[in-house]
Amino acid sequence: MDILPLMRSHAARLQGIPPTIFSEMSALALRTGAVNLGQGFPDRSGPSSVVRRAIRALEDGQNQYPPGIGKPELRQAIARHQQRHYGLELDPDAQVIVTTGCTEAIAGAILGLVDPGDAVVVLEPYYDSYLAMIQFAGGTRRPVTLTAPDFRLDVAALEAAAVGAKVMLLNTPHNPTGTVLSATELAAVAEVAIRHDLTVITDEVYEHLVYDHHEHVPLATLPGMFERTVTLSSVGKSYSLTGWKVGWATGPSDLVGAVLGAKQWLSFTSGAPFQPAVALALDEEADYPRELAADLGVRRDLLCAGLREAGLKVRVPEGTYFATTDITELGWPDGRSFCVALPERAGVVAIPSQVFYDDVDEGRQLVRWAFCKDEPVIAEGIRRLVAADLTA
Ligand code: GLN
Repeated sequence: MDILPLMRSHAARLQGIPPTIFSEMSALALRTGAVNLGQGFPDRSGPSSVVRRAIRALEDGQNQYPPGIGKPELRQAIARHQQRHYGLELDPDAQVIVTTGCTEAIAGAILGLVDPGDAVVVLEPYYDSYLAMIQFAGGTRRPVTLTAPDFRLDVAALEAAAVGAKVMLLNTPHNPTGTVLSATELAAVAEVAIRHDLTVITDEVYEHLVYDHHEHVPLATLPGMFERTVTLSSVGKSYSLTGWKVGWATGPSDLVGAVLGAKQWLSFTSGAPFQPAVALALDEEADYPRELAADLGVRRDLLCAGLREAGLKVRVPEGTYFATTDITELGWPDGRSFCVALPERAGVVAIPSQVFYDDVDEGRQLVRWAFCKDEPVIAEGIRRLVAADLTA
């Protein structure tokens, strides 16, 4: 039985807009009691000092509209963060804005920088909101596929896609594949961007969640790139505060100004009491993301080993908190049919990566699993997968 259409809300059905795959799959997990290894949100909250700071801000009366650009203390903390980690010197009053999660920064950047008819180069598989926002802006997408099983960048394909394009939308560490673009790949990206005079939007929300010897390098730090790059990130992934919806855009004032121009008509301004707390996180809990990544590395290995034990072919991610499997050998027509059947078969929910592809064949057999969940949750998910018959 195809139960997914039943999960769609009345309102969404009326408007003809299906819910995002993440909402759809989380609703499926709730409804079936399945272990949710689909949507990427952690089971545990970030640092308690940060949560307490938000509570104090609420009690102190920081409950009215903050400046649209963001509270100065947070913009200054974001500038310090970029300086400390990457050596980027930013003017917090002109080159930093606060957004309602990175999702709004993505929306603002695309709406602010893409005109109707503009071509946007985007890595495929692409995060779902990129697609929606390129469509909202009236742009056309030019996907460049990170090809399985290694999901590396094909520089020739990037070069071909860049001809006549206006914007490049980059994402590293990359959701859903877990690829962290290497120094060589980033240099090639920069070269292409400069040669074709592209404006670059780079989504770096998993900047601190990298494993083994992999290192995240912001594209904006490469020669000639700062002036054409708007860098986006958020507190959500780095500090396990995905529900706070506090993100930011940084870069040259003209590009950041374009994001702000769109943002003011989207959310207008972003959650006042969270902003001083996020500033505290960036300044005073600066070690937290590294410790989180070390802990996530253990959970990554646990999940990957378990998926292998369940008979799946796994690509071990270099960054993010997602692992990708190829399910070809299980005999399902595609990942979606597998994921729809999975709660009943095994009591587990995962994400069919095919929804992130234009090229239906490329992503058809790929399924994404989140390991930002608590270890007992991952262990239970694995126990269920190993016990189940996962073949079609
Ligand atoms: N970024 C999260 C993920 O990839 C989901 C965010 C959302 O649900 N929009 O799982």
